[in-house]
Amino acid sequence: MTLNRFSLLLLSSLLLTITMLLVSIYYFFYLPGIKTEILDQQQQEYNLLYSALSLSKNSLTTLCYDYAVWDELVEYVGNPTDDFIQSNMPDNAFEAANIDAVFVSDINNKLIWDYHDDSLTSSRSSLVHLLHQKNTESFAILPTAAEIASQKVSSRSGYLVVGGHLLYFSNTTILPSTGQGEIVGSLTMVRLVDKALINDISQFSLVKFSIENVQTSTETMEAFFNVKPIENIAPSHSWLIRNTFDDQVVQVTLHHKKVSLPQLDWVSAISILLSIVLIVSLSLMALSRLLIKPLIRFNKSINDSSDDNFLSKMDSNHFIDEIENVSYSFNQLLLKFNAQQNYLETLTVQDSLTGITNRRGLETFSKRIISRWHLESIGFSVMMIDVDNFKYFNDQQGHLKGDDALIAVATCLVEVMARNDALASRYGGEEFCIILTENNHHNILKVAEVIRESIEQLQIPNHIDGRNWVTVSIGVVVVDDNLADIEKYNFSDVLQHADEQLYLAKQAGRNTVSVTRFSD
Ligand code: GH3
Ligand code: MG
Ligand code: MG
Repeated sequence: MTLNRFSLLLLSSLLLTITMLLVSIYYFFYLPGIKTEILDQQQQEYNLLYSALSLSKNSLTTLCYDYAVWDELVEYVGNPTDDFIQSNMPDNAFEAANIDAVFVSDINNKLIWDYHDDSLTSSRSSLVHLLHQKNTESFAILPTAAEIASQKVSSRSGYLVVGGHLLYFSNTTILPSTGQGEIVGSLTMVRLVDKALINDISQFSLVKFSIENVQTSTETMEAFFNVKPIENIAPSHSWLIRNTFDDQVVQVTLHHKKVSLPQLDWVSAISILLSIVLIVSLSLMALSRLLIKPLIRFNKSINDSSDDNFLSKMDSNHFIDEIENVSYSFNQLLLKFNAQQNYLETLTVQDSLTGITNRRGLETFSKRIISRWHLESIGFSVMMIDVDNFKYFNDQQGHLKGDDALIAVATCLVEVMARNDALASRYGGEEFCIILTENNHHNILKVAEVIRESIEQLQIPNHIDGRNWVTVSIGVVVVDDNLADIEKYNFSDVLQHADEQLYLAKQAGRNTVSVTRFSD
């Protein structure tokens, strides 16, 4: 697998992991946490409303009881007088206690005296009617005849719906405070659960609620005072408060402050996803720049260095220390390897006797010269140099002296050629080959003559054919820059021409130079 593919795989798996992680956090931690918080808040709102309505209910029951065991009231029921009412039952006392209507009845449930607030003026007759409605033990406001007869102390309370108002009433039998003595009647107090109460509760708490009449029973709803924990999140919850006669109900609806779980919409989801992709891509870009690209370049350097025998160093200044260290070590290794390679190459291209380039080195150099000739049309020259009558030399002076003579000739060739752009090599035995980058006919001839003379001037004795010293014959071929079908000629063709010229030089009596232009 390539590093690029691996990084793509890494990108995909990172994306998948982060997305899964976010989804898991959202669904397993965030949402349940929020849900608990909202449920808790909704439950608290219910508890607040419950406390407020209970307080209003309970305080009226207490007030009603307090009045009902008031001895002066017992006396008044027995003997109703205006004085008692004027001095003991003033309107402002009821207003202060938030009591909106009061009814005093005798043991026959006959109304003796009543009070009502202005807000209930239009509802008074309906209220009086309700007081006497369904006078059975289960559904009654006033004590039943049976309860009076048996002197059963009763206390009733509940809700009434009258003229669009929700009222809470409390009725208690009137009897002396000592508890000794007969029941003389009953006292009914009424409190209006009206908009003022709703506003008060709404104003001083988080609770927003409304109360409405409901004519038909809604079985799915639960009784408000039958406290149950809120189990599901909803914008609002509703409960019933039943009319004391169980024939009419009101619905209390609590409008919650926190109403729903946060919803992940498409725009947010896509934005989050894009952000993740961006972050992961940037991380991978950094990873690619700091790690993957240096590794790819490292691989390329190794390949280049091994394929082309070419010194392909790695860049330095890497951000990651380990990569920088690898790069430094690799470059050091490359230098060492190159030095050893050069040394080995020198060994393979060096003639062991004369120390100059051998035939193998000549071949390498000739390849460069020929490819330059083919590609760039740059000509050159080749000289084949053969020591004259060398067999005779050996025969006369011995092989060791022959070796020394060959060394002297080779050294001389190298020295003369040092002044030219050329390569002097030992072709084999007592033959040498020189490749020159020069291809001017006239100049080349001069160089060849210089070589021939220089060897002769070494004055290595070899008395034969009327000559006193070791001499050489030289065959030269000059290769022009441009030639038709240049590509079809190779170095051996050129060498063959040089050989022919060498043969001619030998024929001409040795210690001579023969030159020709390279042609088909
Ligand atoms: P010609 O002028 O025609 O070239 O005559 P020649 O004697 O030089 O040619 P020939 O090919 O007959 O003899 C070459 C001799 O070179 C034979 C061989 O002993 C000698 N020779 C070749 N290599 C070496 C070497 O490494 N050391 C010594 N001492 N002699 C060598
Ligand atoms: Mg020879
Ligand atoms: Mg020879």
